[in-house]
Amino acid sequence: MCFDFSEKIRTVSNFPHEGIQFIDITTLLKDGNAFHMAIDSLAKVFQDKDIDIVVGPEARGFAVGAPVAYALGAGFVPVRKPGKLPAETLRLEYSLEYGKDVLEIHKDAIEPGNKVLIVDDLLATGGTTLATVKMVEILGGKVVGLAFLIELEFLHGRQVLPGYDITSLVKYS
Ligand code: IMP
Repeated sequence: MCFDFSEKIRTVSNFPHEGIQFIDITTLLKDGNAFHMAIDSLAKVFQDKDIDIVVGPEARGFAVGAPVAYALGAGFVPVRKPGKLPAETLRLEYSLEYGKDVLEIHKDAIEPGNKVLIVDDLLATGGTTLATVKMVEILGGKVVGLAFLIELEFLHGRQVLPGYDITSLVKYS
């Protein structure tokens, strides 16, 4: 399968702040053929890894992670901003370039020993993914892989995630 997913992704200048080049995947998601192929391409990499759970961070991680979970016959677990999950949660505070952020996961979402694939739309500095990896591992899950539609290679997210099996469909260098 050879498909240029980059043609389906657009860059929006000065969003959400002046000077930011925002990579927008909504143009890929709305194209049924491209969306289908993107999900299948990510799922194919991990189809023989016996994944129990796909974990996706809010919010674009839901749009990509849930269909990957479905394709793999795995469960889906959301990671959310504080105060959104109804049952008991594990909270993890992590550093951003400027300031801090907090993510939560249900404490009973991962069984010890579960094989977990973390899926998000985009890998930038790796902070969101690293926080998600830590939460999964605190709950006893084994992180088998990390999968993204897009990787911003110039932000070196892989460097904060050494030793993990990382897959991305489109790389910006
Ligand atoms: P990181 O934590 O720096 O790796 O940033 C990745 C997270 O921020 C992911 O959850 C992305 O959804 C989001 N993100 C960062 N930059 C962009 C962008 O340009 N487009 C879409 N999402 C982005």
